[in-house]
Amino acid sequence: MTPAPLDPVALAQGVRAGQRRALARAITLIESTRADHRAAAEALLSELMPHTGGAARVGITGVPGAGKSTFIESFGLHVLAQGGRPAVLAVDPSSPRTGGSILGDKTRMEELSRDPRAFIRPSPSGCTLGGVARRTREAMLVCEAAGFDVIVVETVGVGQSETAVADMVDMFLLVLVPGGGDELQGIKKGIVELADAVIVNKADGDLAAAAARAARDYASALHLLAAPGDGWQVPVLTCSALTRTGIDSVWQTVLRHRDSQGASGALAARRAAQAHAWMWNEISETLLQSLRDDGRIAARLPTLEQAVADGRLAPGAAARELVALFRGEG
Ligand code: GDP
Repeated sequence: MTPAPLDPVALAQGVRAGQRRALARAITLIESTRADHRAAAEALLSELMPHTGGAARVGITGVPGAGKSTFIESFGLHVLAQGGRPAVLAVDPSSPRTGGSILGDKTRMEELSRDPRAFIRPSPSGCTLGGVARRTREAMLVCEAAGFDVIVVETVGVGQSETAVADMVDMFLLVLVPGGGDELQGIKKGIVELADAVIVNKADGDLAAAAARAARDYASALHLLAAPGDGWQVPVLTCSALTRTGIDSVWQTVLRHRDSQGASGALAARRAAQAHAWMWNEISETLLQSLRDDGRIAARLPTLEQAVADGRLAPGAAARELVALFRGEG
């Protein structure tokens, strides 16, 4: 619970000063669905906005068991060793925060979560992906204002969460495991196209040779895909999150991507397009919410919903009537 009264300006100062409590409170505020909290969250974000944008925003996806959280732990520790400040966020609309949430399990990323220079936040709970994604985006901005310079956003790879995460990061990493020849199998169509780099994890012990083979297969499969227009050739890397080998080449790839995309203007263009899409998303969400909150709509909705369910009224006609009512034309 966020204690009242809330002073977004003071909270913003606390966040920027690197105070852990302020950071935690700010993110709790952003995750709240209460209308007064939302207003305060927006004021807070306005305060912080000029101090955001400085981090490398990295998204990570892969099937469950691919080793994402083990990888993020190794990667995060590597970032720390390089003098960086990693923050880890997650988008997992499928599970409530305290249940089987992807980062809720304390045994995951144990070493990283113990380090005071790192920050790990489980997925916000929420019934819609849109709501979860919005809060994660905003948490990312708060983390940037707090001085974190590498933000890792993990997705569990369910529903549309990969696209939502790809739409908020600078670079999207796809974590795969060595799989005897059935390259890219089990990965949903369209996800591979989102990847800016492919990582074959578990390249250790008995799996090392298979991982190298898989990497070659993936690399040739990727060559068959149309090259993106931004001049970046999607690399395929191998690593072992467990033995922590190959992690530095992933880090170097992140830096190389950042440099090249920054220099070409592709990074700025990507972020501008994301901000634009985000604004329209906010418009839809806000409009929809005020429609749902409207007393006239609430009064009329059950009748129309029933008529649509019974097949007595076309959904389009019902929708038009509701919108007309909302606009005061009904
Ligand atoms: P996630 O579901 O993608 O987050 O996967 P986890 O990080 O929880 O890892 C799933 C399992 O794979 C765990 O038992 C890990 O110990 C194991 N694992 C993760 N990375 C590696 C690796 O690099 N090599 C090997 N051999 N096992 C790994």
